[in-house]
Amino acid sequence: MSESEAARVIAIDGPAGTGKSSVSKRLAARVGAHYLDTGAMYRAATLAVQRAGVSLDAAEAIASVVSGAQIELRADGSGGSRVFLDGEDVSTPIRTDEVTNAVSAVSAVPAVRTKMVALQRLHAVDDFVVVEGRDIGTVVFPGAQVKIFLTATPEARALRRHRQNLAAGRDSDLDQVLDSVNRRDHLDSTRTVSPLRPADDAVIVDTSDLSLDEVLDELTGLVKTRTGGAV
Ligand code: C5P
Repeated sequence: MSESEAARVIAIDGPAGTGKSSVSKRLAARVGAHYLDTGAMYRAATLAVQRAGVSLDAAEAIASVVSGAQIELRADGSGGSRVFLDGEDVSTPIRTDEVTNAVSAVSAVPAVRTKMVALQRLHAVDDFVVVEGRDIGTVVFPGAQVKIFLTATPEARALRRHRQNLAAGRDSDLDQVLDSVNRRDHLDSTRTVSPLRPADDAVIVDTSDLSLDEVLDELTGLVKTRTGGAV
């Protein structure tokens, strides 16, 4: 990727429950960029694997299902995005517990990552993008102009996810959410390929005690500084 393409990317990485999605979406709207939710792509890949009835231990079969699946992100016209699997809008079914509990296993398969990374890079060729994920600053766009790594304590993250579940009308048990957050963090940060970690040049922002607006203001300030006030 050339430097001019790299200059058009704001990378936001971090574990689940740091407020990453809400912040990334709103930051994109503020700075006039498109928003790319890479987690939704791994979730759609996971749904494809589950629908094919493939076991989570079967790395080769997972790779084969995902290589034949068409996964596409499209802007929803109001600052967010919808994800499509073989032409079907799967934005809602990818948020079930079943998918959430399986996604780390699917996203640890190297061939799955290779395909997703290539798709993600295509999105940035002509756009100014805020890209949210786990490996955006380290692997997908190592030349991104701004790299942010959001963190928060596991308890603060579990509480946020729990509240989001309740607000969306989903059943939720705080202890179970905390277990799931901890399990996913462990799997995502210990996998061999592209483990979750901050890039050396990422700015780390702890959101445990910050409101969404406070995080947004801090990030907007960072983006303005890094881009010389160009946004
Ligand atoms: O962001 P979200 O919680 O939807 O991500 C779901 C999962 O997708 C993560 O737990 C991780 O396993 C995987 N993922 C990834 N690399 C990314 C984005 C998400 O491995 N860039």
